[in-house]
Amino acid sequence: MKIFDPHVHMTSRTTDDYEAMAAAGIVALVEPAFWLGQPRTTVGSFVDYFNSLVGWERFRASQFGIRHLWTIGLNPKESNNPKVAGEVIDMLPRWLEKDGVVAVGEVGYDDQTEAEEQSLLRQFELAKEYGLPVLIHTPHRDKKRGTLHTIETIRQAGFPDERVLIDHNNEETLPIVLGETKCWAGHSIYPHTKMDEKRMAVLVDKYGSDRIIVNSAADWGISDPLKVPKTIDVMRQHGIGDATIEKIVWDNPVTFFAQSGRLDLAELHERPVVSRTEKYESNSILRGEPVTSGR
Ligand SMILES: [Zn+2]
Repeated sequence: MKIFDPHVHMTSRTTDDYEAMAAAGIVALVEPAFWLGQPRTTVGSFVDYFNSLVGWERFRASQFGIRHLWTIGLNPKESNNPKVAGEVIDMLPRWLEKDGVVAVGEVGYDDQTEAEEQSLLRQFELAKEYGLPVLIHTPHRDKKRGTLHTIETIRQAGFPDERVLIDHNNEETLPIVLGETKCWAGHSIYPHTKMDEKRMAVLVDKYGSDRIIVNSAADWGISDPLKVPKTIDVMRQHGIGDATIEKIVWDNPVTFFAQSGRLDLAELHERPVVSRTEKYESNSILRGEPVTSGR
């Protein structure tokens, strides 16, 4: 089964991870722009980060046969930093027009401040302007209120539900997203906290597969870039059929991000050709000459 991980922060992962992901069936992924685990101190730090997502990281993924797509936006946390927030949003158009950018994101609420709301509203406007869907992060604290607040802001922005993916859902928020909106519902499967594979299988049993998406949300914290394939295994053990699973791990994310008009669907089914002699701006992923076996 071909797998699409629609939310994974590969800049924080190793080449071993890429190798394991490709072996487990991951053909394509989306890397949303987010924060660095500590506050950035200058706008230039965002410039280099965004450039690395659309440049080096795309190249690195291709070297393991994985198609790498991105979402670009100002993350919720740093929307609260007046030293960078306005300027970062002003320069987003530079990346929003790039080919591999398939949504604005991840944007949304963290502490649910006024500054976060203004940042989210401005980025909905940019998404309209560039014809892109939006990937929304929901807060880890006070998640239910954060989800309701997110829905209110979508309405306030007059943004179409079908073009919004509300991420990091759980048992409490999923019925709200499915029942009160036409947004897509993402679920991040983590090793110890929040949603796990079993709980996800139970949710699919209960709610079906329409608008349901799963991801690993792996980053530099305790997380696992193989959580989507692992969830597939648990869903199968749970008796969920392959057609339903395939819809969740391939069709749904592809349909959602295809709304950007920037997914080449024929190309997406094929892995990028791996050529280890290839370079990105004169750098390769090799360290020295490759060793030929038998010598
Ligand atoms: Zn994330």
